[in-house]
Amino acid sequence: MAGNWKMYKTPQETVRFFERFKPLLSANHACDVVIFPAAIDIPAAVHAIAGTSIQIGGQNLYWAKEGAYTGETSAAMLSAAGATWVVVGHSERRHHVAHETDADVLKKTQAAVAASLTPIVCVGECLEEHKAGKAHEVLIRQFAGGIAGLTEEQFAQIVIAYEPVWAIGTGHTATPEIASKAHTLIRSEAEKRFGEDAANRLRILYGGSVKPENIQGLMKEPEIDGTLVGGASLDAESFARIIAAA
Ligand code: PEP
Repeated sequence: MAGNWKMYKTPQETVRFFERFKPLLSANHACDVVIFPAAIDIPAAVHAIAGTSIQIGGQNLYWAKEGAYTGETSAAMLSAAGATWVVVGHSERRHHVAHETDADVLKKTQAAVAASLTPIVCVGECLEEHKAGKAHEVLIRQFAGGIAGLTEEQFAQIVIAYEPVWAIGTGHTATPEIASKAHTLIRSEAEKRFGEDAANRLRILYGGSVKPENIQGLMKEPEIDGTLVGGASLDAESFARIIAAA
C-alpha cells in the first residue's frame, strides 16, 4: 500500500503525520507500507520511521548518475537519503509537469533498479482515451515503450501501478471490474514478454481516488495486489484505514 503525497506537506508537517500515523498502524499489517513524500521531506520521513516497517520512496528521479541537471534528483541521492522506493512515470509528470515519455520512463526505471530502489512504474489512459475505448491500446503501448525494454532481472524488481488518469484526484474511482480487466491485460503483456513465472510474481497496484470507503471492493479483486493512494494518504487516519483493509 503506497501513499503518494504529491507536492503537499513541509518537513514539520511530515513529522506530525508520522506521530499520528505510527500508533495507528497495526504491528501485524500484512503488506508493504511505503510513503512517497516530496524530496525535501525525505530525510524527516526517514528519521520518523526509524524502527518501524514503514518504507520511504521518492516521487521521481533522473536517470543520470550526476551532472548539470538543475532541479533533478538521482537514484543514488534518493538512496543515500534513505529512500528505498521511487515512483516512475506518474501521470502528473507524463502529462503536466515534465511531459515524460515512455522512453524516459524506461531510462528512469533502469536507473532506479541499478541503485537498488524499487520502482513503481505508473501506466494508465487519459479521459479521452477511456471514452474512445482505447484504454487497453494505451496500456499495451506504454508497456511496450516503457517496460518491455527491461531485462528479466530488472523486471523482477519492479512494481506496476495502473492509474487511469481520469480517476486521479477526481473522486471517480475505476470500478473494481474496470481495474481488474486492466490489471489482467498488464499481466498478460508481462507474460508475453517475461514469461509466466515473472508475470505471476509481478505486483500490480491500482491508483485513482482510492479511499477508505472504496478500498474493500478493490482489494476483493484477486488481480489487485495493492493500491497507490494520493489524496487519502495525506491524512494519517484515512491511510491507516486503507492499510487495515488490505
Ligand atoms: C496518485 O497521486 O497517484 C493518486 C492516485 O491520487 P488520488 O488517490 O488522489 O486520486
